[in-house]
Amino acid sequence: MKKEKILIADDSEMNRSILEDMLSDSYDIIEAEDGAQAVSILRTSVSELSLMLLDIVMPKMDGFEVLEAMNRNGWIGDVPVIIISAETSSSHVERAYELGATDFIARPFDAIIVQRRVVNTILLYAKQKRLISLVEDQVYEKERQGDLMIDILSHVMEFRNGESGLHILHVRNLTDLLLSCLARKTDRYNLTMADISMISTASALHDIGKMAIDEKILNKPGKLTDEEFEIMKTHSAIGANMISDLPVHQQEQLVKTAYEICRWHHERYDGRGYPDGLKGDDIPISAQVVSLADVYDALTSERVYKPPFSHEEAIDMIVAGKCGVFNPLLLECLTENVDRFRDALADDPLEEAKRKKIRNISEEALRNEGGGVSKRTLRLLDRERVRNNFYASMTESIQFEYGINPPMITFSVWGAKKLGVDEIIMNPDKDPRLQKILGEGSWDRLAQGALSTSYDHPEMRLDFPLRIEGEVRWCRLVTRSLWSVDAEPRFEGVMGIVQDIHDTHLKMQELEKKAARDQLTGLLNRTSARQQIELKMLDHRDGTFALAIIDIDDFKKANDVYGHMFGDEVLKFVAKNLRDSIRQTDVSGRYGGEEFLMFLEYKTDIEKTVDRIRRSICGTYDNYKVSVTIGVALSNKVGCNYEKLLHAADAALYYGKRNGKAQFNFYDDSMKDLLASDEF
Ligand code: GH3
Ligand code: MG
Ligand code: MG
Repeated sequence: MKKEKILIADDSEMNRSILEDMLSDSYDIIEAEDGAQAVSILRTSVSELSLMLLDIVMPKMDGFEVLEAMNRNGWIGDVPVIIISAETSSSHVERAYELGATDFIARPFDAIIVQRRVVNTILLYAKQKRLISLVEDQVYEKERQGDLMIDILSHVMEFRNGESGLHILHVRNLTDLLLSCLARKTDRYNLTMADISMISTASALHDIGKMAIDEKILNKPGKLTDEEFEIMKTHSAIGANMISDLPVHQQEQLVKTAYEICRWHHERYDGRGYPDGLKGDDIPISAQVVSLADVYDALTSERVYKPPFSHEEAIDMIVAGKCGVFNPLLLECLTENVDRFRDALADDPLEEAKRKKIRNISEEALRNEGGGVSKRTLRLLDRERVRNNFYASMTESIQFEYGINPPMITFSVWGAKKLGVDEIIMNPDKDPRLQKILGEGSWDRLAQGALSTSYDHPEMRLDFPLRIEGEVRWCRLVTRSLWSVDAEPRFEGVMGIVQDIHDTHLKMQELEKKAARDQLTGLLNRTSARQQIELKMLDHRDGTFALAIIDIDDFKKANDVYGHMFGDEVLKFVAKNLRDSIRQTDVSGRYGGEEFLMFLEYKTDIEKTVDRIRRSICGTYDNYKVSVTIGVALSNKVGCNYEKLLHAADAALYYGKRNGKAQFNFYDDSMKDLLASDEF
């Protein structure tokens, strides 16, 4: 398959080489050492390029100048540009976007960010180009038929008027040039590209009124008499009447514009034209432009009554006011574009140029249609994307995002490495490598699961087997569906994370099997309890946990008064109560002596839970009243660290012992100086 071409313009060979390393697997790379070289490559191969990566600070021509050249030559719409620059001040970024850059990547860059944005940009552009070419084809077809009719009409009219046969065509091209220039110069006339095209088309009708003028006058070789000239002058009003007498299409903008042009294309800016003596911008801009184009072409063409003037002579005469007064802005346009005017008259309208114009109109229409997303929003979204990529690359987890349009999965760096797949997979449902990892039927199950989510319940959890590094593991998939922001939200994809629970499950079983238990109470011993607690904290990284030390009050006395055997029974009594009052997923253990450990995962109301457990542990054993003091440490205060939790719980226990026993306390910072460093 043919690779897409990317142009890298950067003066640093090192940078070019790094970028090339990142991209050359999937793309053909062309390099430019400076802006000037980039522009000359664009000049010859703009149509072959899918993307340009552009540095800003470069010798000869910097990145901004390259963008400006791309605008001047109309390439900016054909090749998306991603700026890569260390200079990220907002004015810099702003300027790049203003000049038509599609994206901005800050240096130093991350390979993944570059790759992903390159793929995204090329995809997006391809999509937009398809859309534009669709619209373009439709518009083109319509235009072509309209042109055909106008060409026929022009031919008939010119034949009768004794004109060169190209006058109408020339006026059209000149009108188009003048208007395009005027639109760049000022927004006084609110000219869109569609307006320009429409006025140029309507200009073909400017002399339609001449149909009603006697052929003898029209084709008279010498100068017209005053009387004949008066008759000749009626052609503008007659033409306008022909248009306004049309029984249909009166609401069409084209027809209205044609009326303006027919009636007023002999008005002059100073009010000394005909038929109405309109002045300044009271003359519609369409008529102003056509009148200038008309005069210019008349001067430079041969007529029965005069030889052709050169382009320079024609311009001098017009500027000197020999053909009446024109809008000064239009005169500026005329003088600034002498060369282009000459070209416009020399050539037939090239199909390609026309295609291009139509494409611009289509783009404009689509831009207005699609609108609504401000540059600011785009930048914020971009920030978001950078942030996500950063976090994803920092954590060792399989994160992914799946979008349905286009169908594509993007994995986090670590995730892709772990699974042994590409970070971006197009058409994942058909990707053989992904299918192999997922195994039979998993894709369908996942798809079904995702589709069964809703806007209000976007989350899904699913355990399924995954073949990782040749071994099947049970994984838990946690996803959140993404919905469009329409009134009726549409499913757009999911983002999610794959948790490898195989390890922890097995490990838990293994620990459970090997667990060393305290002979007397049957509870886990200190070491085993610790192992299980640490594993649980690892497994549920985002959970909140409580670790408690439970200490029997005045147990020494029980031993002393009732004997050691009795004391053992009390320990068993407490252990049983403890085990019975916690869930299976919690952990209990004997820390040593008459001290016990308890580890709970909780969501809310941990105080109530601890209080309930404390009450159920206490009680009366054989007329002996058992009481305990509990010190608790919470992971969201202390952190998910066993040692720290234990120390904090101990401090809280000590606090309780000092404050009258038979109670429970949660560690907080006020107990800091009770923290024992050597007791454990
Ligand atoms: P406090 O309320 O301050 O906790 O006082 P206490 O008497 O409970 O605490 P202390 O640490 O002074 O005494 C703990 C006693 O527990 C000392 C020891 O004889 C007893 N003990 C430790 N292990 C065992 C055991 O396995 N069996 C029995 N019967 N007694 C034990
Ligand atoms: Mg003790
Ligand atoms: Mg005690």
